[in-house]
Amino acid sequence: MENLIYAPKNGFDRLNETDRAELESYCRRYMDFMDAAKTERESVTETIRIAEQHGFREFQAGMALQPGDRVYANNRGKSIIFAVIGREPLSRGCHITAAHADSPRLDIKPNPLCEDSELAFLKTHYYGGIKKYQWTTIPLALHGVITTQDGAVHTVTIGEDESDPIFCVTDLLIHLAADQMKKTLADGVTGENLRVLMGTQPIEGEGSDRVKKNILSLLHEKYGIVEEDLLSAELTMVPAGKCREVGLDRSMISAYGHDDRVCVYAEFEPLLDLETPAYTAVCVLADKEEIGSVGVSGMQSQFFENFMADLCDIQDVKLRHCLAASTCLSADVSNAYDPLYAETCDKQNNSRLNYGISLCKYTGSRGKGGASDASSELFNKIRTIFNRAGVLWQIAELGKVDQGGGGTVAAYMANRNIDTLDAGVPVLSMHAPMELVSKLDAYMTMKAMRAFYLAK
Ligand SMILES: [Zn+2]
Repeated sequence: MENLIYAPKNGFDRLNETDRAELESYCRRYMDFMDAAKTERESVTETIRIAEQHGFREFQAGMALQPGDRVYANNRGKSIIFAVIGREPLSRGCHITAAHADSPRLDIKPNPLCEDSELAFLKTHYYGGIKKYQWTTIPLALHGVITTQDGAVHTVTIGEDESDPIFCVTDLLIHLAADQMKKTLADGVTGENLRVLMGTQPIEGEGSDRVKKNILSLLHEKYGIVEEDLLSAELTMVPAGKCREVGLDRSMISAYGHDDRVCVYAEFEPLLDLETPAYTAVCVLADKEEIGSVGVSGMQSQFFENFMADLCDIQDVKLRHCLAASTCLSADVSNAYDPLYAETCDKQNNSRLNYGISLCKYTGSRGKGGASDASSELFNKIRTIFNRAGVLWQIAELGKVDQGGGGTVAAYMANRNIDTLDAGVPVLSMHAPMELVSKLDAYMTMKAMRAFYLAK
């Protein structure tokens, strides 16, 4: 019997002609998106810009909506929900995809600027799970907003243009690192030492802190701000530079923040040209997943319910009936198997590069702590949709049972009585300043999201 044993082949051996033609152009568009959107704020701005070109308009409670209509709800510029209204009433449920647009990074402290030994620094407070040593001696760019008391919002991006300066956290020279080298990787670089070097040139004149004053004067020149304005700002340091193709065969893409914008783009792009689907398609780009999905812009925020309730009101449908009938793909990345660290994974249950979108029945750590565990019925429904649409998929489990673990937004969707399954792109070097994905997997994830939206 042909299919008795589950023994999938490498995805490159299974691509059809259409896939081969579409894969490269899709990845080009994904790379352009990544270069334009390195933070959750920039992801919201960029997706709105693209969506409006494709007929999306801002949702207003009580507006008349017909099947095929396309709307978005912007949550404070930091998370966003897109919807394409389906033919079926909302009481039959929605097909929801939920990814997160925030990534680990070095946030700037509230009172950040200091001078030590005539060097000016910005103090940082890291955001999300990072290996601190990875963030020294790499090019960094400053992103974010500074708001001033006149109500103006100044958008900051320094370090991405070829003509911009970049920033950097220094590290100790190896010649003097005898003590540092004996420390663990966790302790070798401390959080307080992730201090970004901002400048060395003193302002003209006498007095103390002249290098810091010079930096403030440059910021004043560019944005008209004073030091107190930094205290209310939202600034972050992210790895500077663009996405690149990786490998002599160009089969991979390197980027900062594939986790989870590789899923953000995969669930967003198919909406743009989506014909009226059977079920209303809802695409969520959440914030704050890396620190627990909390707060006003996280997946646990009431913003999601409020938007869905407003949609339901238009059709005189009860929210709880809509959610109970809905299905959600929690679109988040998995860890791709890395033979260099084989001892951390169960290869037979781990996702691999070039085997397609990975479906993760449950996340959590150790005894499935904190997991959202999808049912067999749901997993089967999704794999059937994917198989019929020619989507290459595989399974994922995050490492060996006792090794560690992690979570996604899945639990917060499932808590709302929505059937939810984790599905996303396998990533190498997850949470490092430079992460890797395979083009094939990125493309297959988009194809999977499209098939899910179109499913009847
Ligand atoms: Zn993630």
